[in-house]
Amino acid sequence: MARYIFVTGGVVSSLGKGLSSASLAYLLQSRGYKVRIRKLDPYLNIDPGTMSPFQHGEVYVTDDGAETDLDLGHYERFSGISAKKTDNITTGKIYNDVLKRERQGKYLGKTVQVIPHITNRIKEFIKNDVAKEDFVICEIGGTVGDIESLPFLEAIRQFSNEIGRIKTLFIHLTLVPYMKASDEIKTKPTQHSVKELRSIGIQPDIIICRSERTIPLDQRKKISLFCNVGIEDVIETVDVKTIYEAPISFNKQKLDERVLKFFKIKSKKKVNLLPWKKITQLVLNTKNKVNIAIIGKYVELKDAYKSLDEALTHGGIANNFKVKIIRIESDVLKKSEIKDKLKDVDGVLIPGGFGKRGTEGKIAAINYARMNKIPFLGICFGMQMAVIEFARNKLNIKNATSSEFGSSKASVIGLISEWTKDGKLMKGTDKELGGTMRLGSYEARLKKDTKISKIYKSLRVFERHRHRYEVNINYKKDFENKGMIFSGLSPDNKLPEIIELKDHPWFIGVQFHPEFKSRPLAPHPLFSSFIKAAIINSKK
Ligand code: GLN
Repeated sequence: MARYIFVTGGVVSSLGKGLSSASLAYLLQSRGYKVRIRKLDPYLNIDPGTMSPFQHGEVYVTDDGAETDLDLGHYERFSGISAKKTDNITTGKIYNDVLKRERQGKYLGKTVQVIPHITNRIKEFIKNDVAKEDFVICEIGGTVGDIESLPFLEAIRQFSNEIGRIKTLFIHLTLVPYMKASDEIKTKPTQHSVKELRSIGIQPDIIICRSERTIPLDQRKKISLFCNVGIEDVIETVDVKTIYEAPISFNKQKLDERVLKFFKIKSKKKVNLLPWKKITQLVLNTKNKVNIAIIGKYVELKDAYKSLDEALTHGGIANNFKVKIIRIESDVLKKSEIKDKLKDVDGVLIPGGFGKRGTEGKIAAINYARMNKIPFLGICFGMQMAVIEFARNKLNIKNATSSEFGSSKASVIGLISEWTKDGKLMKGTDKELGGTMRLGSYEARLKKDTKISKIYKSLRVFERHRHRYEVNINYKKDFENKGMIFSGLSPDNKLPEIIELKDHPWFIGVQFHPEFKSRPLAPHPLFSSFIKAAIINSKK
């Protein structure tokens, strides 16, 4: 039977619970165990799909088509395990489910309450879809003390009672601040946070202390004493220079060792930290640098393009280069400024996006990259904008646009009429926005002897999608006559998946999101190739 590890956070948010959980997953996996990681989010949205990236950062998409929290991206990148729909749950989803059952009369006349009905549903989720896993790591979003996370904490308390205390481990990640004025490390916030947790009935077994500086033994002893955990289970995590160092650092602090000790089991294999050491070395030491511009609407918030930033870094790792990302806000980008803004840029990337705002800036930048032979990668919306640019300037459809921006006679991009998923016919709609896009992994068939087929070294690829609109296939011939090849199509030949330019060193647009599948230990070929092209361009 699986063992469960619950990770809660204290004092402040953004302490790196996701990264800690992901690193622990890697370490346990490397020791020979089968691991699964899940996230329990306390907000009321059913999923983050309809939230603005400014609110919640990127929306991460799984193979099976769930729109999830970006932490699931960390999990995948560190553990290599593909996340599933069942790995992210929100308060909204739980309540939605319980209320639907209530309307169906499934509670047999009982009063429906947070305890036991909501907490029971949370517990069912925690256990759901677990088969041969040795460990299930569940990260609880939010901070202990928040009203929203209370039902989750109550549920994991009950859960631990039910399956047995020896099968559940509670890890509490907290902040141990350094006070410059008195040159002291302060343990009081941690003591308070653990006190709060214990008042709910949860005694942490391991406390991970996030700190700017090494925590002296005396302070660790204090935490151990006041928080009722063994001194060896007070684990510090001092800020790392690159996230790839995290598994190394947690192993050094013996986190994985303490977890195994708690469950009274032995390591099956020796931990392999070599890949992380190599990457850390490279990322920190390489002097080679290539500049990539991301032109988008949400560039102010770093987390909005989390997987993309990561995938670009991975592309750099594959080429032994550091990737410097230059973020350009598309909304205020004027045509007249483009030459100047892109003068030190070796490659241009237009990411996914929604809505008309900022599109003219993007289209002008694509035009510049196309005309000046700068490597260009358009992702989802980025590909759609590249198609609009080409239609306007090469096909002479001056008012070419997308029906996403309103109805028009020149929609080279239109609402997807239909597609098949698991043998079922699906239809596009923009009436209800939550979970109605073409989501998750779909196959694309690649045309022989194209740039893309050489990059993938395959004629069949599976990539993750998240879109409502598509390039109108009826224009295919017109585009191809002018040099834009539709080099990847859905298996039924109805949906354009990839476009590329014949007479350009590297100009590719993809209707899917390759960034979701790139991993530091296995960089995505599209990003490796894009960075390689940018490096070649930088040497010109
Ligand atoms: N807004 C576009 C669509 O729905 C692109 C979406 C995206 O970039 N993920 O098709």
